[in-house]
Amino acid sequence: MKYITKYKSPNYNSRNNSRVELIIIHYTALKNTLEAISYLCKKEKKVSSHYLISQNGNVYNLVDDKYRAWHAGQSFWHEITDINSISIGIELDYNPNGKNNKFSIKMIYSLKKLITKLQKNYKINKNGILAHSDIAPFRKKDPGKHFPWQSLSSSNIVMNIKNLKKNEIKIMEKWFNRNNLNSKKQKTILALSLIGYDTREVYKNDKLYKKLISAYKIRYLKREIKIKNKSVYNHLIKHLFNYMLTEN
Ligand SMILES: [Zn+2]
Repeated sequence: MKYITKYKSPNYNSRNNSRVELIIIHYTALKNTLEAISYLCKKEKKVSSHYLISQNGNVYNLVDDKYRAWHAGQSFWHEITDINSISIGIELDYNPNGKNNKFSIKMIYSLKKLITKLQKNYKINKNGILAHSDIAPFRKKDPGKHFPWQSLSSSNIVMNIKNLKKNEIKIMEKWFNRNNLNSKKQKTILALSLIGYDTREVYKNDKLYKKLISAYKIRYLKREIKIKNKSVYNHLIKHLFNYMLTEN
């Protein structure tokens, strides 16, 4: 893993004293690393990221951590909409429709090393490692359905969601009932919202609801061949339970 600092992006501003709490993972959807560097460092593009990782595992530091790089765009997590101020952005040289359409072993190795270092430096919670599609589910898909989240949870970088025992499922059901939530859709939306997702418009807009569910599925359930909404709900109960245990 080479750490390269010779390319710098002008596309950043001040974090306004915000603390780094999140790491956002992206893919570039460009041809290769050179093209990505040129794109992310061009003033007119008005986009950037703190890091870019190439297919051969080189890490390019384009914006200093202390600055607010412009990678998240319109986004939301736990009621916060200025995600750029509280996050570090990592771009991966990956294009689902290009020759660079694999998350190479070297790339993922470097990504894990980088995240581990950042987690330590900024005391970032395991729940703070997010996909761009988590914070902007209505307009973004990256890092996409082939990104190896499993490898990150095996390495203990993101939360490993454990199965619940029968009595734990009952606890969750009781908890929902106490909040007067009866329909699965209501429970699903509440769970997503407590985890951090933007559910502000999904109650009244079914199209957005479906987009949110699909973003969730892509990250957490892609291994199941045919995913029914019931499995999404069951996974969310499990996820929320695990989440509550780690956050408090
Ligand atoms: Zn992105």
